[in-house]
Amino acid sequence: MQLTFLGGADEVGASSTLVQMGGKTLLIDAGIRISPKTSRGIQTDQLPDLSLITEAGGPDYILVTHAHTDHTGALALVVEQYPHVPVLATPPTVELTRILQTDAQRIMQSKQDAEGELPIFDEIASARLMDAFQPVQFRQPVRLGDGLQVMYHPSGHIMGAATLVLEGEEGTLVMSGDVSLGANRAVVSADPPRIKADALVLESTYGGKLHAMRASEERRMVEMLKRVTDRGGKALIPAFALGRAQEVLQILLAFRDELDVPVYADGMVRSVCTAYSRFHEWLPENTVRAAGDDPLFFRGKVKPVSSAAVREQVASSDEPCIVVASSGMLTGGASVVYARAWAGDERNGIFLTGYQDEEAPGRFLQTMMRKRQAGEEFTLRIDDSTVSVRCEVDTYSLSAHADENELVQYAQSMGAEEIMLVHGDPGARHSLATALRQRVKRVQTPRIGQTITFAFAKRPWALGQIKTGEEARPLDPAELWAQLKDQAGSFFSARELAQMWWGDAERHAEAVSALTDDIHFAADWRRRGTFQVHSAEQVARKQRQLAIMLANPDLVGKLIVLRDSNGRPRVGIVVNASADAFEAQVHGAKGRHYPADALLWVIGTWEKVDDDRGQMANLKLMLDETQKWQDTLLPFARRQQLAEAAQPVNPADLLPDPLPDEVSHEQALLTIVLALAQDGASLEPGGLLPKRALKDGPIEQNQARDLAFSAFPPKARLRKVGMDIHRKRLTLTFDFPLPAQRQYADVIEQLMTQTGWDVQVNPGINQQALGAAVDELLPAGGRITKGPSFYLNQGEVAVEVAGVADVAALQRAYHDLTGFRLRVGGDQSDGDTPSVQPETSPGREPIEINAAYGLVRQALEPLGLYKAGLKQGGLVLTFISPQVGERHLDRIRALSEETGYAISIHPHPNQQQILQIAAQLIREAGWRVTKGPGIHVARAEVSVKLANEPDSATFEQVRNRLANQTGYSLVMG
Ligand SMILES: [Zn+2]
Ligand SMILES: [Zn+2]
Repeated sequence: MQLTFLGGADEVGASSTLVQMGGKTLLIDAGIRISPKTSRGIQTDQLPDLSLITEAGGPDYILVTHAHTDHTGALALVVEQYPHVPVLATPPTVELTRILQTDAQRIMQSKQDAEGELPIFDEIASARLMDAFQPVQFRQPVRLGDGLQVMYHPSGHIMGAATLVLEGEEGTLVMSGDVSLGANRAVVSADPPRIKADALVLESTYGGKLHAMRASEERRMVEMLKRVTDRGGKALIPAFALGRAQEVLQILLAFRDELDVPVYADGMVRSVCTAYSRFHEWLPENTVRAAGDDPLFFRGKVKPVSSAAVREQVASSDEPCIVVASSGMLTGGASVVYARAWAGDERNGIFLTGYQDEEAPGRFLQTMMRKRQAGEEFTLRIDDSTVSVRCEVDTYSLSAHADENELVQYAQSMGAEEIMLVHGDPGARHSLATALRQRVKRVQTPRIGQTITFAFAKRPWALGQIKTGEEARPLDPAELWAQLKDQAGSFFSARELAQMWWGDAERHAEAVSALTDDIHFAADWRRRGTFQVHSAEQVARKQRQLAIMLANPDLVGKLIVLRDSNGRPRVGIVVNASADAFEAQVHGAKGRHYPADALLWVIGTWEKVDDDRGQMANLKLMLDETQKWQDTLLPFARRQQLAEAAQPVNPADLLPDPLPDEVSHEQALLTIVLALAQDGASLEPGGLLPKRALKDGPIEQNQARDLAFSAFPPKARLRKVGMDIHRKRLTLTFDFPLPAQRQYADVIEQLMTQTGWDVQVNPGINQQALGAAVDELLPAGGRITKGPSFYLNQGEVAVEVAGVADVAALQRAYHDLTGFRLRVGGDQSDGDTPSVQPETSPGREPIEINAAYGLVRQALEPLGLYKAGLKQGGLVLTFISPQVGERHLDRIRALSEETGYAISIHPHPNQQQILQIAAQLIREAGWRVTKGPGIHVARAEVSVKLANEPDSATFEQVRNRLANQTGYSLVMG
């Protein structure tokens, strides 16, 4: 048995351990370091040492303890490299990880739009991770092969969190995961494994600490909240969105008779609460019972904050209230908005409830509170601004981690001989190690990169006992499955299955051919001859998928409507189909692979349009048309009727006869199917079954405009709302479109759903506002001596000023407000913008931005354009590497002339994708790799070391293909 610690050893963050036992390599968790930076996207220094996974030859299985980002944040990256490795986790962990992934994508996207920083993994990688997940249930043994099994036990902490017990001939290893042993109102209690462990990897977050009694902490917090709200104050409880916030809300609900003020939940808290509500059987019975038929969280005085405007209202209101908001350490998110608004008033309070990072503002608050005298005021720096703190501050111990005494008892209850402490800062680990060493033989505190090997006395392995069959018939997969379905999720080799059916392991080849492509077992194609037993639900889903594909034998080339993994309806053209899945080019999505049950409706054959606009551009035109015709073809009242009737309908039956002159049959059908899809329709025998008509339908124009104005707070500086009534499109004009688009992305999206209108932001820049902003931000005594002058194409405004002490602060504030750089006096620094080569500068007025995108995409997508974005008034084109982009300089210059936009090429390559392509080519060439492939951005090279010298013809071929696809050259060494 061998363990290698990739991260999360002497730290809380980037948890990841590689375990080799029973001939298998298991990766337990792959998290990221949570730091203030996390709220702005993920950096590579936040990752565990993933290269050690490659050195170990890749994992056979990935096991996930729970959804927190410090355990799952890097999973997408690992799965990108090892797409066929099953990832085992409980169903709530899968769902919660999906929510965190969506959030991470949103953050990375906004960072890319704002600063041109490439995400370290994209939505395709996220989708692939979701595909790789295999659900496991608590206390169900899952065989991982000959003589090795894993069992998930509830570990308290958060919904779905598990302690893993790995058992095999080489011994028993317990991976504690994050453990909470006390009662918690939002999580089922921990049920530690009652076994004798040889080795235990134990978390140590609260080593050296003892928790106060939960009940008295709850009481203390409620008393304090009462005092604050009784005196007219407002209380902020910053809480981690996943876990802590749900518990705090349940406490507030339990004491609702004593706290007679509104309670608001803000930030990601909302979507996590919704996910919790979907898993009643994974929650404490009392909590579920207390809610009755009402929502689990949002009932009584507890309400979610649904938009930035509401947030602004709550923050600036005079009414006493309580807000539970993420982030829990005040490092970003909604909690910062409230802290800024409330910290200065001594009637208010900020109440911390959990772990505070060394550098987090929350930790600083705690430290200052201990030092300050009553009534004294101090300054807190949060999110690039400072606030003076006069409000009350206190901390409540509602930790979701066991304290030192509990951890010692926990370790003792398993009688582990070898203990390794992880997931704690050095002080915590040291204290816990000292306490444990008095009772246990060996305690180690591994460091990152360290490998520890154990040789426990081998013992006969009873659990894997395979029953011997004596059938004389050919293997019947359904019958074999019926015997094994209680072990759903387990992995068996073909030899074992042959033994089970015929009593003859040597007939394994026959077993392989009987079980490959069968719906009852999943063939694991990384290791030929290994099969996973499907659960009853998986078998049912597979059956449905096969039936769908059978019912649509000629899917390739068809125009279809489908639902993506987030449930959004999308339109695409099928390019490939298999027995249970299809591949499609889908408008607005990068992903191409969809399971058969993503299919919603087949519209008809896509007539391959051979004009120069290209397929996707034509599809986009068609989609725009559906907006225009929706109300005519399927009026809202009719949609309501259909939803109420609750009967499946054939969309073709809803077509009016005759159709309006300008509408084709195909266009009309697409319009109707999309309307039903928006109403939550699912594909049922007999047609589409809409669930509910979208609450308002596209609303009346003046109402849409009013809603738009009220959705944004004044500081968003929304100046004008334009309306294209024909297309049902709102155009928002902000003083400063760049930061507005970034900060209010969620509001814009909400506005779309609320109004049913398409919403876009006018990219035009208000020069007058740009000038006025300098005056506005000047400190007292400062004045402008020259300028401002505007360099819109460079994203710059230049002024000369006098009486400004902190020029850098002025520049920062200016950039935050306007998205423009402020050049002061002789200051020529080019700030944090990457220099972009080569820049073009056109001679004409820019055309409408979407038209420009259309032209650019149509010309360059076939040549490898990955993404086009707007940055400081110019277009930035992203290719797999700048080298690939530079091949098309002539075309790009022409486009710049045509569109009137300066166009540049994004200067960073997509390293992950280049490596993936290289790995693929190497695999196809059949080479044996001893090291690499590695990437050298400065030299535009991919290097690889091979076991044998390849023949020069093959090498040339691989080199050319790599250069063609990525612009990088292949070198040996
Ligand atoms: Zn955790
Ligand atoms: Zn953790």
